Amino acid sequence: AAELFYDNDADLSIIQRRKVAVLGYGSQGHAHALSLRDSGVDVRVGLHEGSTSKRKAEEQGLRVVTPAEAAAEADVIMILVPDPIQAEVYEKAVKDNLEDGDALFFGHGFNIRFGFIKPPAGVDVCMVAPKGPGHLVRRQYEEGRGVPCIAAVEQDASGNAFALALSYAKAIGGTRAGVIKTTFTEETETDLFGEQAVLCGGASALVKAGFETLVEAGYQPEIAYFECLHELKLIVDLMYEGGLEKMRWSVSETAEWGDYVTGPRIVTEQTKAEMKKVLGEIQDGTFAENWMKEYKAGLPKYNEYKKADQDHLLETTGKRLRKLMSWVDDNE
Ligand code: NDP
Ligand code: MG
Ligand code: MG
Repeated sequence: AAELFYDNDADLSIIQRRKVAVLGYGSQGHAHALSLRDSGVDVRVGLHEGSTSKRKAEEQGLRVVTPAEAAAEADVIMILVPDPIQAEVYEKAVKDNLEDGDALFFGHGFNIRFGFIKPPAGVDVCMVAPKGPGHLVRRQYEEGRGVPCIAAVEQDASGNAFALALSYAKAIGGTRAGVIKTTFTEETETDLFGEQAVLCGGASALVKAGFETLVEAGYQPEIAYFECLHELKLIVDLMYEGGLEKMRWSVSETAEWGDYVTGPRIVTEQTKAEMKKVLGEIQDGTFAENWMKEYKAGLPKYNEYKKADQDHLLETTGKRLRKLMSWVDDNE
């Protein structure tokens, strides 16, 4: 079983004795910076020229400087800019401002795991990744609670890197809920696999295929939308609260029977074999290499896929139907 760490296992004074730079002020950046500050940590935010989040950070009482200035001032540097540009920000703003004894922090292991960032031997390399979006991380912190985090050390130059990571996690509320120890490799590979095979890729493809099957058989798209997309939330909420068991307790016996006999005909041995191939391509770096190539080329295929799905009948139907549901927040 995983090793878990709580408030009593973490010493807040370690991070309070450091100077922290948070680079980026998006979903994670804002939550980390504000909660670090509220935990009595000396924090500055590093943002690029023309950043749209700069004003928000200043309005919330934080000092904003350039990423290079932030990295130069600080001895703990948390990189919370989008993953595909982290290596560039590191080269331009961080690398030359790293001294032995500093610590480099990440919220996701992508750039370290696949070697796009190669920190010098004298710095600690740590990860503190909340298992939730930034607004939830911040709200839980403000309410005296926390979102569980995972923490890892890739390079322990100081000999105290994990204690530093736990201290950081405590400052953003993570140890109130529990911190699970992992590695950069485990976090990165499972995160990419989960989003591709199950959460984003798997779920979208399942919804689209179900919707198309009904529409091609002559059923109305509006009805197909409710059955294949809208109702998915009810099912996922039940799983989230109580696993498969609670979901099956809540649905009808007919639905439960259909679950048992039909599920394995949809996600087959062949699907699982393909999942193993997908995992292999994540592990051997093929996915990361292709994704960075696509990103650097200006996202041609990405934009093509995006456009195709925006024009899909599932999406155009959903746009109309969501207007009928006053409680659904579809701000575009
Ligand atoms: P966002 O896209 O929400 O925010 C990115 C931030 O970086 C924005 O403030 C953006 O500014 C800023 N930025 C962009 N370019 C630069 C630059 N050159 N220099 C400095 N700042 C820059 O990112 P996330 O918070 O989603 O992701 C950050 C990290 O956290 C990633 O490693 C991600 O994998 C990880 N993570 C994310 C989770 C999530 O729920 N979103 C969960 C767990 C981990 P501007 O506003 O001007 O564009
Ligand atoms: Mg991810
Ligand atoms: Mg039904």
